[in-house]
Amino acid sequence: MATESTDRYFGFKPLEELTDTIQRLIRTRLWAQIVIGMVLGIAVGMLLSPEGGALLSESDADVVAGWLALPGQVFLALIQMVVLPLVVASIVLGVASSGDPAQLRKMGGRVGVFFLATTAAATAIGISLALVVQPGNYLDRETVQQTLGPAQVVASAASDEVKLADLPDRIVALIPSDPARAALNQSMLQIVLFAILMGIALLAIPAVRSRPLLDLAGSLQEVSMQVVSWAMLLAPYAVFGLLAQISIKIGLQALLGLSVYVGVVIAGLVALDLLYLALVAIGARMSPARFLSATREVQLLAFSTSSSAAVMPLSIRTVQDKLGVRPSIAQFVIPVGATVNMAGTALYQVVAAVFLTQVFGVDITLGDLLLLSATTIGASIGSPSSPGAGIVILATILQSMGIPPGGVALLIGVDRILDMSRTTVNVVGDLVACVLMNRWIKPEASPPAAG
Ligand code: ASP
Repeated sequence: MATESTDRYFGFKPLEELTDTIQRLIRTRLWAQIVIGMVLGIAVGMLLSPEGGALLSESDADVVAGWLALPGQVFLALIQMVVLPLVVASIVLGVASSGDPAQLRKMGGRVGVFFLATTAAATAIGISLALVVQPGNYLDRETVQQTLGPAQVVASAASDEVKLADLPDRIVALIPSDPARAALNQSMLQIVLFAILMGIALLAIPAVRSRPLLDLAGSLQEVSMQVVSWAMLLAPYAVFGLLAQISIKIGLQALLGLSVYVGVVIAGLVALDLLYLALVAIGARMSPARFLSATREVQLLAFSTSSSAAVMPLSIRTVQDKLGVRPSIAQFVIPVGATVNMAGTALYQVVAAVFLTQVFGVDITLGDLLLLSATTIGASIGSPSSPGAGIVILATILQSMGIPPGGVALLIGVDRILDMSRTTVNVVGDLVACVLMNRWIKPEASPPAAG
């Protein structure tokens, strides 16, 4: 290839070749298509937004935003359609293919500790940053308090008593006494428990008996993945439309007033991401660059859809195919992680809570902060992995701190961008857990794995 050496000599590639490379990249690389979709989506959204380019009137912009977001909504609906069978089948297969209950206990225990420890670290990072930077001081507090009402005094002892009394009921409520209703209500935590129990039960009965159900779970999983791969064809258009819609709706104005708060959440998420990458390097002996390049599509999709659940199928495929994680680990850790592991959400929630205590002038003690941290860790386990879930749960946390419910209204304008960012970190946490478990848990002396 004479041209190539000449080009290298001159240090550039001819335009034609460059265009070829870009076209190949777009055709074969999903991440490139997603990035282009994102950039174009934001640009078009800014042009059309009433506060930006104002090419359209506000009501027309709303209509156009709805149409632009159509492929994205179809994409999300398709994934949601198969998420339930996929979660159940994947967990059942993941649990059953671990081969032995002791192995499973080991994996469950370690994953649990990992999720709890990283979520606790996330809340510590969030609280420290919010206390140091004090984002609440950058807002006009008086106007906010006049509009949204003053802080409320909460009787914390009384509310603790109620919580303690509620506890037994809450524990029993975790068990899906009516699995059909749990499915209907999309109560993911209950469904995950159901699937884990089914998987363990399948391990406990003779192999001839468990075979048919395992085969069924296998084909259920494959069929769901097929639908997912069709939905993935829409991904770049979905990303384009969703981002255009968001940029039209949010507008620049809302972003500016709360920029310090947004900055603190994003800085915290970046710090948590760095912690994850350090764990990949030290714990899994994998280069962070390899991890990032293998998982970039998953991360971009998480960012654009704001839904850990929507990304779950791609996460499973990515860790198995690109990072060599064993299916028994990937199919257990990813669906469970997508449901219970939300360190990014926990970080966002503590920053938002501390920010609002600053805005509303609520005094908080170290004890309050510890309670906030514990509540947030608990709440993040039960939060649904869907767009906007974090802010809904946040509203209940805020109430127990004496912040008026209207406080959430202050955050809604910028929540989508933070939702996108925290979802990405939530998903990174699941991916990292997979890679670590794959290294830490030795494969059992089972029949040699195919491939
Ligand atoms: N959207 C987030 C997720 O799916 C949850 C949240 O709203 O924080 O992971």
